[in-house]
Amino acid sequence: MQTRDPIPYVGRFAPSPTGPLHFGSLVAAVASYLQARTKNGQWLLRIEDIDPPREQPGASDAIIEALQCYGFVWDGDVIYQSKSDAEHRSALELLIDQNLAYPCSCSRRDLADAPRGPLGIIYPGTCRNGCNKQETAIRLLTDDKAIVFADALQGTQSHRLESESGDFVIRRRDGLIAYQLAVVVDDELQGVTEVVRGIDLIDSTPRQIYLQRLLQYRTPNYIHIPVIVHANGDKLSKLTGAPAIPLKAPSKTLCAALRALGQEPPASLASAALSDVWYWALKTWQMEKLLGCKTRVNTS
Ligand code: GLU
Repeated sequence: MQTRDPIPYVGRFAPSPTGPLHFGSLVAAVASYLQARTKNGQWLLRIEDIDPPREQPGASDAIIEALQCYGFVWDGDVIYQSKSDAEHRSALELLIDQNLAYPCSCSRRDLADAPRGPLGIIYPGTCRNGCNKQETAIRLLTDDKAIVFADALQGTQSHRLESESGDFVIRRRDGLIAYQLAVVVDDELQGVTEVVRGIDLIDSTPRQIYLQRLLQYRTPNYIHIPVIVHANGDKLSKLTGAPAIPLKAPSKTLCAALRALGQEPPASLASAALSDVWYWALKTWQMEKLLGCKTRVNTS
């Protein structure tokens, strides 16, 4: 009997060019890289450049330079998400044509008093039956069936979108495609089989799975790794003043990233060649060390 080859592993790192790579994003890159390479998989680099108002000039190049300096090797060319705009828009049209999405003229101010649920603000459905303004966002019609997925680190998650988030935006009022739709279309286009990213994005996952089902896409595996926080508990981000990772002595910072991922590199590796650090990391990678872990304090 012939057995079918398993689907080849494809992972990705998908930074938004809103600033240079900081330690928290390095940790996410390292986790997705080790996960892909230890499964003999591909690892793609996708720059999510579809939100020009939030972009910082030069950030894409700075991210690429930092990843190169840390010894990451991606498969194929760097992918720029803005290049798949036509595919994003045809997925949008498909949803509109099937009456699964509708225009919404509610402003942030209109929704200021909307209730909040486990997935953020709950859209009350104001424009479900029509709105007559010119400038509108497009929202996806949700239902209340449970969306259940098993996160390899965080366990089984179950959410009901209609009551926990309500209909959500897939094209913004300024005409730009929203993150939820773009990421789902691109993961499908690029054949991504496993998404490894920070737990700060876990609330988006049920929305993304719902979109995948409506668009008849495959659902990848999801692994949400802990986010790196400052000693006071705030997430490391541009907003909380996280600096760019140093381009000097990358072995030292790479070892700190491995420690943040629960691995225990020997102290001597901090001053070893980068290739030795990667060799050790690939040989010993144990994602299970992060089971159930939601935050790790910055030790870099
Ligand atoms: N571009 C997103 C970010 O930088 C990550 C997207 C994803 O991993 O799904 O936060």
